[in-house]
Amino acid sequence: MPHILAVANQKGGVGKTTTAINLATSLAALGLKVLLADLDPQGNASTGLSVDYAARSLGSYALLAEDQPLAGLVQDTMVANLSLLAADNELAGAEIELVSYKRREFLLRQALSDERTASLGYDFVLLDCPPSLGLLTLNALVAADSVLVPLQCEFFALEGVSHIMRTIDRVQKAFNPELRLQGLVLTMFDRRNNLSELVADDARGFFGDQVFDTLIPRNIRISEAQSHGKPALLYDPRSSGALAYTRLAEELVKRVRRSPRKQS
Ligand code: ADP
Ligand code: MG
Repeated sequence: MPHILAVANQKGGVGKTTTAINLATSLAALGLKVLLADLDPQGNASTGLSVDYAARSLGSYALLAEDQPLAGLVQDTMVANLSLLAADNELAGAEIELVSYKRREFLLRQALSDERTASLGYDFVLLDCPPSLGLLTLNALVAADSVLVPLQCEFFALEGVSHIMRTIDRVQKAFNPELRLQGLVLTMFDRRNNLSELVADDARGFFGDQVFDTLIPRNIRISEAQSHGKPALLYDPRSSGALAYTRLAEELVKRVRRSPRKQS
């Protein structure tokens, strides 16, 4: 079975989608078979891989709400080894609609633990979560083996972290005792800005080695790449952003291998 990694933080604009796209790409470039599932109705992960609004057809909504098998919903991307489950246009209604479903927190978990999913042979499934702690993020956390929390190096960065930590805690207690915090990743780090250093020091002081060693720098090539519908590794492989996400992928693989999931 794949390792399922939720990329979550209820704050918007902290680098969830950027991390999901570029980490997924870098994992695929390491030769791993990767699926990126776009669970945000805004669909930025889909757009960032050149699957724009008109081309979305069926995706994560069809998987969650209509119980359609994953194999028929994923699409290839421009990156070898990387598939996408797009955010379909219906996904915007899911937060409200799914409330009336039976075992509504387990829809994604059920879909991904399907034998037919296992037969697709993914090594990693990355879940790009919306900027809220609603039912879509909850489904991601219930389905996930571990959570990666991007933290933007700016003022108040640590303030919101307690919300996601408490949510992870609750999900562990109520739905998914195996869920682990994979770690925090510092994004948009700016060496010229003292605040970035302060936030990084604070985060390491508080969370210790749960903070990834790899820092993701603020790098214009990353956002340019996204506006061209490409991962940074394809847009400018030698940019500091692309190199950082490659290091992050290597570090993630090491961390996942160091603490293999409990056998159930
Ligand atoms: P989220 O998914 O958490 O809402 P995004 O990944 O969409 O956040 O990032 C918010 C904005 O910041 C986007 O416009 C993105 O291109 C930009 N961005 C993210 N990471 C970086 C970075 N390391 N350097 C420069 N811009 C970045
Ligand atoms: Mg996003």
